[in-house]
Amino acid sequence: QQTERESMMLVTEYAAKFFTKSLYETDEGQSVGLGYLRQRGIRDDIIRKFQLGYSPEQRDALTKQALVHGYKLQYLEKTGLTIVRDDYKADRFRGRVIFPILSLSGKVIGFGGRIIKNDPNTAKYLNSPESEIYHKSRILYGIYQARQEIVRQDCTYLVEGYTDVLSFHQAGICNVVASSGTALTLEQIQLMSRFSHNVTFIFDGDPAGIKASLRGIDMVLAEGMNIKVLLLPDGHDPDSFAKSMSGEELVEYIRSHETDFIRFKTSVLMQDSANDPIKKAQVIQDIIRTISVIPDLIVQSVYVKECSQLLGVEEAFLYDGIRKLKLKEQ
Ligand code: ATP
Ligand code: MN
Ligand code: MN
Ligand code: MN
Repeated sequence: QQTERESMMLVTEYAAKFFTKSLYETDEGQSVGLGYLRQRGIRDDIIRKFQLGYSPEQRDALTKQALVHGYKLQYLEKTGLTIVRDDYKADRFRGRVIFPILSLSGKVIGFGGRIIKNDPNTAKYLNSPESEIYHKSRILYGIYQARQEIVRQDCTYLVEGYTDVLSFHQAGICNVVASSGTALTLEQIQLMSRFSHNVTFIFDGDPAGIKASLRGIDMVLAEGMNIKVLLLPDGHDPDSFAKSMSGEELVEYIRSHETDFIRFKTSVLMQDSANDPIKKAQVIQDIIRTISVIPDLIVQSVYVKECSQLLGVEEAFLYDGIRKLKLKEQ
């Protein structure tokens, strides 16, 4: 007797195989899907390592095949692969390049699908809906392919998207995962911390990228992780940046440009408030709050020292702020 989860996982496994076959073994897949991936410079070994695929344009190509092979409509619907309305059935990802999302143990639990031609009226990426086997907030894209290397390097690179992960692997850098465009969650941080306590956020060099990197930070700190931040030059994302140099150059660039998060946060916040005493007071409160969530008191004292210099306030003042916050919490 199969559990519901097992039945769903059999369907996602079947669908992943269907999509890879469609990519390599059909004319449409080769010209449209493979054509797209090649034009983006993605190598075959990477396509295979990440089990990339293609979902044909035809309305129900996957659904029809799966039903013929004895898979139940119920599970096709529950996994979000088939959209069912009355007697109308359609493949969710039709006409898209497919990025299977794997669990920590390498099982296919969900999919991301990208349109071939950018179009302002269509979502660039579609994802599987939440289900018993796919919880977006608990998984990181690429964790299965990265886990060993994260342990070996004792460091995780966190990027935004699917193609960022692929490009890093293609450059020979495999300790990389993606949050897939959503704000980092506590569960995702706890997942990372199982393999290493060091993480470097690598974000697009635009205002949205800066915001994104500030958002996750306090949560990561509270888990006792060490964070560094790397902001890429304006106009780049990790994918385009990785393609502009060799893997060795990329590692060297990260090593020499990543900055400690507190210094990063302080300088970003101070940039537009240095001359405004009220804003500056708010920034100082914000930094105090951030430092106060660090569980290790020795680490905390290092940051107090550093921030007192960066902000131009006494260490005692910062300690006093931390103490007041702790009192409020009780
Ligand atoms: P590409 O290089 O293919 O254009 P990207 O990965 O650079 O894509 P971004 O716009 O930087 O795309 O978004 C980062 C990530 O956010 C994507 O990889 C994807 O996981 C997620 N994402 C982006 N747009 C959407 C969307 N419309 N719906 C759901 N998720 C999205
Ligand atoms: Mn972006
Ligand atoms: Mn991007
Ligand atoms: Mn991109």
